[in-house]
Amino acid sequence: MQPSGNLHIGNYLGALKSWVRIQSDYECIFCIVDLHAVTVYQDPKELRSKIEEMAALYLAAGIDPKQSAIMVQSAVPAHAELAWMLTCVTPVGWLERMTQFKTKAAAQESVGDGLLQYPVLMAADILLYQAAIVPVGDDQSQHLELTRDIAQRFNSLYGDTFVMPSTSLPSVGARVMGLDDPTVKMSKSAAGAGHAVALLDPPGKARKAILRATTDSNPAVDFGNLGPGVANLLTIFQAFGGWSDEQMRAQFSGLRYGDLKKQVADMVLSHLEPFQKRYREIISEPGYVAGILRDGAARVEPVADSTVALVKRRMGLYTE
Ligand code: AMP
Repeated sequence: MQPSGNLHIGNYLGALKSWVRIQSDYECIFCIVDLHAVTVYQDPKELRSKIEEMAALYLAAGIDPKQSAIMVQSAVPAHAELAWMLTCVTPVGWLERMTQFKTKAAAQESVGDGLLQYPVLMAADILLYQAAIVPVGDDQSQHLELTRDIAQRFNSLYGDTFVMPSTSLPSVGARVMGLDDPTVKMSKSAAGAGHAVALLDPPGKARKAILRATTDSNPAVDFGNLGPGVANLLTIFQAFGGWSDEQMRAQFSGLRYGDLKKQVADMVLSHLEPFQKRYREIISEPGYVAGILRDGAARVEPVADSTVALVKRRMGLYTE
C-alpha cells in the first residue's frame, strides 16, 4: 500500500484483512510502497511519518512480523533496478491504457513520467519475489494483468525467468464505494468529510459518516432491488462480520435504512476500537516499528538481489 493519505476501511476490507488471513498459509512479504507514493507530490516530512504509521497499521491489523516480512520499497534498491529492466520490455501503449493512469493523469496539471511507469514498478515489486499470489482490491486487477503480460513478454524474449503471479480478490469487499457517493470507489485522496471511514478516525466521526451515508428513495432494504448506497453498506457489514448471504438476508430484509446504518456503524466500530487500541500500543514503544522495517528489508533483500542477478544474466547485462 502507498503511505499517502489515510488508510480507510476499503483498504482494510479489500487488502489488509486478506493479508492477515493468508499469512499462515503462505510465506508473505508486505511492502509499503513509498516509491509509488511519490509518483504524485508528497510533503517529505509527512511522507516520512506516514511510512511508519502504515507499518504500525499493518501490525495493528494482525500482520505478524515473526511470520511475514514488512518492508519499505525504497529500502530495497532492487525494486527500482528491476523496474528499469522491465520498463525496457514494456510498450508505452500498454501503460497509456491503464485506467488508474488515465484517472490520475486527468487530475494533474502536468503528468510526471513516474505516473505512467507506476504499474511497471508494481510489476517489479511482485516479480522480484517470484510471488505466486497477490491479494489486492479490485482496482488493482488491471495492474496485475499487466504484470503477467510484462512477465510473459520478458520470458518469451529472454527465456523462462518469472513466475506468473495470480490475483486474489476477497469475495466480499473487493471494491468498497464512497459513503457520500456510492458510484465512486472509496479513496484515500478523495476530499471531504463523509466520503470514507479512515482506520484511525475517532469513533464519533466514523459513526457520523456511516449514519449520513447516501442511500436512495426506497424506505427499507429490498434485496431484489438494491441501490448502490445500500448495497455498499451491506457489503461493509458483511465483510467486517464475515456473514453469509443467507444470514444477511435474514437480518436485513425489510429493515429501514436508519436501522441498517446503526447496525453497520456498530459493526464497524466493534472492529475499529480494538484496532485503534492496538495501534496506540504499537506506536508507544520507541524504535519498535523501525526495527521491524529494518528486519523486514534484511530478510527480503537476498531474494530480491538474486532475482536481479538472474535478470541481468538473462539480458546480458554486466555481472561479476
Ligand atoms: P492504495 O490505495 O493504492 O495504496 O491501495 C492499497 C490496497 O487497497 C490495494 O490492494 C487496493 O486494491 C486496495 N483498495 C484501495 N481502495 C479500495 C476500495 N475502495 N475498496 C477495496 N479495496 C481497495
